[in-house]
Amino acid sequence: MRQDWNGKPYYSLDCYCKETFGEKLYKIALDGGFTCPNRDGAIGYGGCIFCSHGGSGEFAVPVDKNAINISEEIVQGISLFHGKKTGDRFIAYFQAYTGTYDKPDRLYSLYCTALSQDKISGVSIATRPDCLGREVLEVLAALSAEFPDKFIWIELGLQTMHEDTAAYIRRGYKLPVFEKAAADLKKMGIPLIVHMILGLPGEDPGRILETINYINGIKPFGIKLQLLYILKDTDLAADYEKGLISSYSKEEYLHTLLSCITRLDPRIVVHRITGDGPKNLLIAPRWSLNKRDVLNSFHRLCRGTGGFQGKYFEKARIDSTEIKNKEG
Ligand code: SF4
Repeated sequence: MRQDWNGKPYYSLDCYCKETFGEKLYKIALDGGFTCPNRDGAIGYGGCIFCSHGGSGEFAVPVDKNAINISEEIVQGISLFHGKKTGDRFIAYFQAYTGTYDKPDRLYSLYCTALSQDKISGVSIATRPDCLGREVLEVLAALSAEFPDKFIWIELGLQTMHEDTAAYIRRGYKLPVFEKAAADLKKMGIPLIVHMILGLPGEDPGRILETINYINGIKPFGIKLQLLYILKDTDLAADYEKGLISSYSKEEYLHTLLSCITRLDPRIVVHRITGDGPKNLLIAPRWSLNKRDVLNSFHRLCRGTGGFQGKYFEKARIDSTEIKNKEG
């Protein structure tokens, strides 16, 4: 059983890229000028309860909402790495709002201009499972055929498998919608990255691990694990200020993360174990701003406990099968 991935106790994205492409790939975060059906009224107006006004893309290079060519923004995004030691290959990451929520023609043009750049190895598109209809899938299929040497990844914000929590955070879709999108992508051979938030109100460790087991069952290409951030001007912040919810301490987060990683299928690539909360918006937990410390502390915890990705994966799989059999 593999226990070490280039010095890390989990199968990180960097490790995947080095093993697959021979080098680390750097992400250019883009705000494609989209909105979100959970904000513009198509599904709801308030958005997910934790989502900032920037649609979770505070650090992204902005693109005009009418633009159909993003070559310049890609060059601008690459220039942001100026002075930092990077390789020469990048991922165009459509990060802000809902990256497939626009007319199919515009989506095609945006993704196509990104994929056409020599330095771009692929695109990663953050979106919602209810924004992957037939026409969008056709765009993805056409581009996959046109750019066989490049990749298209889709990122979906599941956050939790539990419908009551999903209702509280106003995710705006039910689990079968996610499952259909995951199945459609699998059929097309498009890798899926699932986002999960740790520390959601009402989610104890048992419920969190149920979501990990659920994601193991979906067998995605990747997972992004993120701590719940309480950001200014969100409804989550209002609940926090009323004392209705709390945020994790660093120790709670690290131990919860350890439980998740040790039960996670070792074939799933871990794209993130902690995020970048925008400093000017982050109310809590402020300790998370020291990302280097969080990563180092987690690696130390793994070393100290002998924990690594998938250590208990088989056991978790058997336990959840037994529960299903008993329920059946
Ligand atoms: S789906 Fe994404 S962009 Fe839309 S409100 Fe939720 S987190 Fe924000």
